[in-house]
Amino acid sequence: MLSDAHTYFHKAADVLGLSDDVRAILLAPKRTVKVKIVIEGEAGGLQSYEGYRVQHNDARGPMKGGLRFHPDMDEDHASALANLMTWKTAVVDIPYGGAKGGINCDPRSMSKKDLFQVTTRFVQEMKEVIGPLTDIPAPDVNTNAEIMGWIMSEYSRYAGFSPGVVTGKPLELFGSEGRAAATGRGVMDVLGAALKETGTAFADVTVAVQGFGNVGSNAARLIAEQGARIVAVADHTGGVSNDKGLDTVALAAWVAEHGGVKGFKGGAAFDGGEIITWDADVLVPAALENSITAENAPDVKASIIVEGANAPTSPDADAILNTRGVLIVPDILANAGGVTVSYFEWAQNIQHFKWDEERVNAELDKTMAKAYAAVRDVATEFETDLRTGAFILAIRRVAKAALARTYVATELPF
Ligand code: NAD
Repeated sequence: MLSDAHTYFHKAADVLGLSDDVRAILLAPKRTVKVKIVIEGEAGGLQSYEGYRVQHNDARGPMKGGLRFHPDMDEDHASALANLMTWKTAVVDIPYGGAKGGINCDPRSMSKKDLFQVTTRFVQEMKEVIGPLTDIPAPDVNTNAEIMGWIMSEYSRYAGFSPGVVTGKPLELFGSEGRAAATGRGVMDVLGAALKETGTAFADVTVAVQGFGNVGSNAARLIAEQGARIVAVADHTGGVSNDKGLDTVALAAWVAEHGGVKGFKGGAAFDGGEIITWDADVLVPAALENSITAENAPDVKASIIVEGANAPTSPDADAILNTRGVLIVPDILANAGGVTVSYFEWAQNIQHFKWDEERVNAELDKTMAKAYAAVRDVATEFETDLRTGAFILAIRRVAKAALARTYVATELPF
């Protein structure tokens, strides 16, 4: 997975004529931490997990990135996703670097008490390397506001009241209005910008969404609110489709109760794997990485892909889709709404101040529109795709900041 993340970096670095030594400095993580987490499970006996935090780059500010609880979590995933966070925070121009981490556990098969124990043990092991001015975790796959609240509480036992150590917290624990829906809202924002480019209205498009968790469900609801039809949704339990448009609010309520879209009565069931090649104008992958591969890319019907998930498109698939003229709004732009509102949350926390939802949403919309326009400008300047444009923009910002912090007399080619 890390090599995929590097492929996109090198494509942009080639365009910029970046030297090998600067590339090496920008790619190497600042710090990688791996810890063992042992708990006495409720079912009896010891359970052991591995926890990771990869802190990739802090040239532009404290490092920032989600925590993923998933059996596949390992150093390779954490490194690749930390790398992406550095470029993502630079694309939306917020004062952060990049990090990522998680635990190789499966929350779906754990009791809440075990999950709490695992989370607090993780904080105990990581407390020296995270903090409001060093590295600020946030929710990602299988983690949520409740878990972020536990992290804040545990960290504050050691460091004193520290709401700014983590974002995506519950509102009653200094979370921000608008954070839960922020990534989905950002997806809606950039889809709006992409549709504008092609002279299409939301009301004229059909949308297929893979993943109906935090990102997918909020993106689907907000895109539907703009007038588009969500014709198919798939998650780990299966798929559900409705040509007239799914009721995304009812579907979210069903998922909250049943744990997945399977069995939802407001549409027809299908095999979830078919979602990538669904007959829709827009595809929003919002589940896990590598959903769009060289195998299914030739059969993708959508003309616009908005990457709600991180790294959903393999480099081979990316090349195929670009050749086919599919407009891809890349992850480091498309799903940056979450980290943007995380930044607003952190800013509110360190100022002990609170914004209302209207202000959060307005600032988010503005940030996403500005970032999309900046990426489009760079892509046009270098006659390249939006992903390469986004990487060029980000690399320039990070490399300039990194060099400005040292006395080394290295010249950058931009
Ligand atoms: P989540 O845990 O809330 O939801 C994940 C969704 O993916 C669930 O609906 C799950 O059923 C589905 N899924 C899992 N395996 C699947 C499979 N094999 N096929 C189809 N669907 C499958 O996670 P999330 O926070 O919504 O994150 C989704 C993606 O968005 C991840 O790539 C994450 O890194 C990225 N992301 C999340 C945020 C955020 O703010 N939460 C921000 C930026 C990027």
